[in-house]
Amino acid sequence: MKVRADVAELLRAGLTNRAIEQQLHIDHRTVSKARRALRIPNCRPRRKATPSLEELFWQRTARTSDDHLEWTGYRSDSGMPGLRHGGRFHSAYRVAFSIRHGRAPEGKVTSECSHDGCVDPGHVADRRTRKRDNDAFDAIFGGLP
Ligand SMILES: [Zn+2]
Repeated sequence: MKVRADVAELLRAGLTNRAIEQQLHIDHRTVSKARRALRIPNCRPRRKATPSLEELFWQRTARTSDDHLEWTGYRSDSGMPGLRHGGRFHSAYRVAFSIRHGRAPEGKVTSECSHDGCVDPGHVADRRTRKRDNDAFDAIFGGLP
């Protein structure tokens, strides 16, 4: 098959079939046949980079006037604040914990401040950090009777 030089040039430059069709005002079959003849694989349109779980988290929160963090995003049927990322649901509390501590939480993550439902990364704790805080309290006050 004879391939038009201008089509070949744009194919080799990495343009999509659609871009070439529009630029040269030619039929899409002409472009796809030329691509096959030249054995140039289809190019995928570039996608915007997927935002990270952390970026999605911050986009769905609002700082309160008393310096807590409220969740403005999705809630599950049971009222759990969270978001979908990578094909699964992530609780906002667990994401907040990972942001602050750089590791996956152990056990349940709870909000430890006075603001109900606060998702501030500095205000949430997992089982290990709660135990550490309790042990520190006991070390100072000798435990409660
Ligand atoms: Zn808080």
